[in-house]
Amino acid sequence: MLITCPSGLSFEARKWKLGDRKVLLDKTNSTPIQRRALELVSGHVVSAGPYKFGKGEKVNWVEVASPDFMTALVQIRAMTKQIYEYDVWCNRCNQRIELSQDLAQIPVKPMSQTCIDHIATNAPIILKVGNAEVHWRVIRGSDLPRMENIDNQAEMAEVASCLHIAKIVTSEREYTDMLGIRSFYADADWEFQRVLTDASDLHEGGVTLEIDVRCKTDFCGAVQTQLIQLGIAFFDPSMEPRRSSASR
Ligand SMILES: [Zn+2]
Repeated sequence: MLITCPSGLSFEARKWKLGDRKVLLDKTNSTPIQRRALELVSGHVVSAGPYKFGKGEKVNWVEVASPDFMTALVQIRAMTKQIYEYDVWCNRCNQRIELSQDLAQIPVKPMSQTCIDHIATNAPIILKVGNAEVHWRVIRGSDLPRMENIDNQAEMAEVASCLHIAKIVTSEREYTDMLGIRSFYADADWEFQRVLTDASDLHEGGVTLEIDVRCKTDFCGAVQTQLIQLGIAFFDPSMEPRRSSASR
């Protein structure tokens, strides 16, 4: 099947098979699972979009930007098993909420031309925040190992935000390494986060993994915004929670 990504990258891919599990679930493999999952099934490039892959070559997922590889993962999962069943917990009453997500129904937003050009040239997109100049970049496959094994939500948000920054320039100094950028981020206010989030919303496009979920527990009915989690059951549908046929 042909998979088309928001940047214009398109390539041939097959679905995941039972035999892929030994690669997907291999805990000794140091390659991030998202990349393994894509490498297993992606065939030759049909259109390279902004990337420098030759026609008929294989996609090098290390170079691919996150809106593209996230969209590819969702499309490949949708053709492997279209309905993704998972559980979340209500923030108000702590009860389990059973979710069934039709992956083919997730909207895919277009990527901005500015972002497509950025992927092609690697020249950063410049954002102004107060007196600081932020050199914004997309997250690429090569950044995935830095997001592995973080189970603290606040740290995850910080790392994901900081990976979007190639450099920060102020009148006093420049921050170019991850340590410096994270210390600048830790000292910044919410306006700084808003500018980064706006840049992602404006430029990246791709699959919208944020959904609103309503708790079905009697007398609760709380609505929370939830990220569709690409947990292990996303890659291995046999690990999805069992649903009784009555609850479907
Ligand atoms: Zn609830």
